[in-house]
Amino acid sequence: MKNKYFGDSIKRRNEDFQENEFGVISESTKYNLGTIIQFNREFVKNKEYEKYDTDKSPDRKIAILTCMDTRLTELLPQALNIKNGDAKIIKNAGGTIVHPFGSAMRSILVAIYELGVEEIYIIPHHDCGICNLDTTEMVDKMMKRGIEHSLINNLFHSGIDIRKWLHGFEDVEESLNKSISIVKNHPLMPKNIPIHGLIMDPETGKLDLIVNGWEFV
Ligand SMILES: [Zn+2]
Repeated sequence: MKNKYFGDSIKRRNEDFQENEFGVISESTKYNLGTIIQFNREFVKNKEYEKYDTDKSPDRKIAILTCMDTRLTELLPQALNIKNGDAKIIKNAGGTIVHPFGSAMRSILVAIYELGVEEIYIIPHHDCGICNLDTTEMVDKMMKRGIEHSLINNLFHSGIDIRKWLHGFEDVEESLNKSISIVKNHPLMPKNIPIHGLIMDPETGKLDLIVNGWEFV
């Protein structure tokens, strides 16, 4: 498959990838990079960035932790009336705090201490991909794509249980409360920052308020 935006080495690597049967990469995926770069050239040339002009401090002093779900990409900011420049939006699978010293918590602390954030919103959603995720099945998929079973075992014996690490949650509200608790009780968190918990309907954008953080500051 020819694509003028791919160098020979990348093209060759893709071919090798398929030949080795480590998994299937769709033909259309090979066009994404070229299409994105081509669009980007036009975007900059036509100065379409001008309408997004802002700075790095969030005008509404808000940080939002939410899920990487593609349905929320535009829906969430629209449904909350969040514009470019208003809020720090932190995303991961599930919109959860997995570890008190992981990247989501680090982002929250940077947002507060360095970027002027005064309010935290944690917004997971219904019908989340990480809810009831079968991690045993996921590890099987990894092995089908070339990850050695011995590696999974070695990690396990080194104290890293991949299945447990990948596991998301069974109940979105329970997971939300757990995330709020980790942030609220974090030793590096200022005590006067409200941490709100809301759950979004990924189809309508409707928010259910689960925890009003102002009640606890
Ligand atoms: Zn999700």
